[in-house]
Amino acid sequence: MDLLEYQARDLFESFDVPVLPGVVARTPGEARKAYEDFGSGVVVVKAQVRTGGRGKAGGVKLARSAEEAESIAAEILGMDIKGHVVEIVMVSPGAAIASEFYFSILLDRTAGSYIAMCSVEGGVDIETLAVERPEALVRKPLDPVAGITADVADQIVAEAGFDEQDREQVAAVMQTLWTVFRESDATLVEVNPLVRTEEGKVLALDGKVTLDGNAEFRHAEWERYEETSGDVDLERQARELDLNYVKLDGSVGIIGNGAGLVMSTLDVVDSAGRDLPGTPRPANFLDIGGGASSTVMANGLRIIMSDPQVKAVLVNVFGGITACSDVANGIVHALDMLGDDATLPIVVRLDGNSVEVGKEILREADHPLIHVESTMDGAAAAVAKLASERN
Ligand code: GDP
Ligand code: MN
Repeated sequence: MDLLEYQARDLFESFDVPVLPGVVARTPGEARKAYEDFGSGVVVVKAQVRTGGRGKAGGVKLARSAEEAESIAAEILGMDIKGHVVEIVMVSPGAAIASEFYFSILLDRTAGSYIAMCSVEGGVDIETLAVERPEALVRKPLDPVAGITADVADQIVAEAGFDEQDREQVAAVMQTLWTVFRESDATLVEVNPLVRTEEGKVLALDGKVTLDGNAEFRHAEWERYEETSGDVDLERQARELDLNYVKLDGSVGIIGNGAGLVMSTLDVVDSAGRDLPGTPRPANFLDIGGGASSTVMANGLRIIMSDPQVKAVLVNVFGGITACSDVANGIVHALDMLGDDATLPIVVRLDGNSVEVGKEILREADHPLIHVESTMDGAAAAVAKLASERN
């Protein structure tokens, strides 16, 4: 679960990470009021969306009066930033920035450990920095128990080449951010930029936090993030049905059993659609797991078919513990349950345990929406073609 910047700011503040005040506004009038409450001077109005590069996209602007705060908020609210519509802005007193740095703690899945990343060249796009000037980015593997101790923090600030005057403050902020990371069960805590103001104070000016959903059971306080969690309705509905569903942007609905199979199905469909008109791509990830009943299949199909972007569906199942015959019965029963709600072509590829019986069941059902394919590539090509034609 990704937090919005203002939520990350609140979280940082609760751990005594130095941040600026931030007031949430959902209307231009509220932004004006926020300016008036700060009193005078410069404020910054920032779009609250779950994507970076808001600054470049025009979603971060300075205002010098209450009127300006109001008109800038009116401009930013409703703006579309990389597909995210701005519904909330945060108003903060403007910082006089002397220097911008970068700092993050994340789970590095390749290295199989937590790492801290740090650079004195912050503010910029970190992916670009990592490619163009990798030597300017310190990558420090962290002991998962000890985390960022005073020693580790000192090593990072030295390796990154911070000025003598900033080292103590920056090292202290890093240690506190480790506490935030650990106590909050985060998989990412990123501060870009971490700044030194003209008064010489180090502040976390923009925070990005990802919480590990698996730890939700021990964080009753995460409830407050629900309302703004940015999940599309379909994801929320799927979660209520205990389905492992992630919405994507394409037009091919995907159902499979086992996360690995579903992931590779996404890849195969993506490449099958690459050269077709409208370049059909996967519309979702949905793993119905082993032992999926017809109810689970029906729930999955219902969720997928209620996504207006979906034009065709691929069911790709490898029978293991669950025999293909059960899966085939599940699909047929699911279509019965859905009745007129089922309107999209469904390409089915079955393999593994009892595949022949499974195919026979589908043949006998002779349902007008079902197309049976024997191979994964064949199924991907068929579903991509259907989605492309129906585009
Ligand atoms: P992002 O583009 O989504 O990462 O949004 P940021 O919050 O990081 O803001 C982008 C840039 O806007 C920062 O790197 C700063 O250069 C600038 N910025 C943000 N807040 C302030 C502020 O309070 N004062 C000034 N002068 N610049 C700011
Ligand atoms: Mn930023």
